[in-house]
Amino acid sequence: MPLGYSPRSAWPRTGRVCTACGACCTAPDIAALVKPLGQPCVHLGADCLCGIYAERPSICRSYSPDWVCGEVALLPTLEERSARFLEIYGLINIKTKP
Ligand code: SF4
Ligand code: SF4
Repeated sequence: MPLGYSPRSAWPRTGRVCTACGACCTAPDIAALVKPLGQPCVHLGADCLCGIYAERPSICRSYSPDWVCGEVALLPTLEERSARFLEIYGLINIKTKP
C-alpha cells in the first residue's frame, strides 16, 4: 500500500476478482507496451477487456486484483477509475485538477 494511504473501501482478502474495470490497463505506464501514463492500452477494448489476452506480456500476466481494485472499480467512468488509480499511487492528485 502506498505510504500514508488508507483504503476507503471494504475489499475482501479472499475471493478477489477482476471486474474488468480497465483501470490497470489505463493508469500505469507500461514499458513493455510503450504505454504512457494515463492512456488506455491500445489493446484495451471498449468493453475494457484485453484484445490480446492470450498473448499479453508478462507484466500484465503477473498483475493480480488487489485492494486497489476495490478503490477504483466501482467508479462510473474509465477516466475516473484511472485517475483514482493514479492518485492512490501518488502519480496524480485528482483533488487539484480543475
Ligand atoms: S484495476 Fe482491478 S478490477 Fe480493474 S481491470 Fe485491473 S485487476 Fe481488474
Ligand atoms: S496488453 Fe491487455 S492486459 Fe496488458 S495493459 Fe493492454 S489491455 Fe491490459
